[in-house]
Amino acid sequence: MSLPNLTSQYATAFPELVRPATPAETPDPKLVVLNRDLAAELGLDADWLTTHEGINFLLGHTLPETATAVAQGYSGHQFGNYVPVLGDGRAILTGELTLNGQLVDIHLKGTGPTPYSRPGSDGYAALGPMLREYLVSEAVHALGIPTTRALAVITTGKTILRETQQPAAVLVRTGPSHIRVGTFQYARAHNDLELLIRLTSYSLDRHYPELATENAGLGLLNQVVLRQAELIADWMHAGMIHGVMNTDNMTIAGHSIDFGPVAFLDGFDPGAVFSSIDYSGRYAYRNQPIVAEWNLARFAEALLPVIMHPGDKQVMDQDEAVTAATEVVTGFQTAYSQAWGERFRKRLGLSAGDDAATLGTQLLEHLKASATDYTSFFANLRNVASSGLIPADVAPELMSWYESWLALKPDTQAVAEHNPVYVPRNHLVEAAIQNAVTAEDLTAFNTLFAAVTDPYTRRDKFVNLEQPASLAFAQTYQTF
Ligand code: AMP
Ligand code: MG
Ligand code: MG
Repeated sequence: MSLPNLTSQYATAFPELVRPATPAETPDPKLVVLNRDLAAELGLDADWLTTHEGINFLLGHTLPETATAVAQGYSGHQFGNYVPVLGDGRAILTGELTLNGQLVDIHLKGTGPTPYSRPGSDGYAALGPMLREYLVSEAVHALGIPTTRALAVITTGKTILRETQQPAAVLVRTGPSHIRVGTFQYARAHNDLELLIRLTSYSLDRHYPELATENAGLGLLNQVVLRQAELIADWMHAGMIHGVMNTDNMTIAGHSIDFGPVAFLDGFDPGAVFSSIDYSGRYAYRNQPIVAEWNLARFAEALLPVIMHPGDKQVMDQDEAVTAATEVVTGFQTAYSQAWGERFRKRLGLSAGDDAATLGTQLLEHLKASATDYTSFFANLRNVASSGLIPADVAPELMSWYESWLALKPDTQAVAEHNPVYVPRNHLVEAAIQNAVTAEDLTAFNTLFAAVTDPYTRRDKFVNLEQPASLAFAQTYQTF
């Protein structure tokens, strides 16, 4: 088979924002997992991808002449602190596929040092975390949430030192682009208006081609605000805690990315935080909408010169641009509340006239007070909706909530279609990865993968995967 049609349109358009980067040698590459469904969606021949030639393509060693691998530059606010130069320190973009007229990035993580690697960091990735991202991103996709996808994990034959020696691996992922808020911050720091205007119009063409706007900066800002409002509402409903919502991990296309320390709620706890480095709880579950809006304000700051100069002539001064941008960013709150309530309407099987948001808010108060397992509570609502029978053992407050809900005659099918039975529960993910890495046994991993990639269909054989973690696990669990 000839090499897939890969281009380097982003790298060609933005030489200022990329550095050429070559993947490090891989002495003994082995395909650990391959996502055949995704390969098919991308028009790639999955059987070919398992061959020596295919693996060399996946690893970026053999690319068509039309593509050149690069590391992408970006800045970022990490836990609130601005870092002027971050960039892909352990990742490369090998190029873009074109699918139905849309570009799809092929992006590798764990390919070794790049010009953006910081001193003391090796550019590699361990197998465990790459399998984790593979599993979780496909689960998130199956929940209907925009995200980077995972195509393959390949061990390279190297070992790297983390806490212990670990097998090194490369994750091959795809996404509508890897343009981040941090990319705009990086471009802004170049003090080059033309570059910033070019990046804005490229982003609009690539991600929001339908948008007609007089002010490209404000137009892009508004689209990203709306997409992020939808995305964060999706995460909140899934009980997902991204874990590291730095501005370099927020995309312009509005999909989830870089959720290394991601975790899912067990018992409902708005303050839940699992990341071992999130000491202050900045990225706690309940803070995610607030942080998203904060990040969008940083995006607006990066865009100010473009907002002042639509076309390239100045139409407003900085104060006017700040006022206009602030108004757009503040729109996040309305868009988020709306998106959040709409999702509750679907999950509770309610109609347009019902006050889903109020009923949802009351419910979450009850779940919080009783630390009820979040996913299984909602998954079991389908039984209550279809039988009309309220579980016998519920607290009186919850009993009256159920009564109010049932009085609205919820649509049973909608309830079943919008409440997942299987999410990548933290304890299951840990056990599956542990087995995969230390025992080289993918049985648990594959079983969990099968469950979470078809999350709304209850299957008897996966009954164990519905069980909450032990309290001891849930209370001490940390991600890294
Ligand atoms: P992440 O946590 O993956 O979003 O990465 C944050 C920043 O740290 C990015 O610039 C990464 O490229 C960089 N980084 C993370 N891990 C490594 C590593 N092992 N080697 C080099 N750079 C890294
Ligand atoms: Mg990142
Ligand atoms: Mg806890």
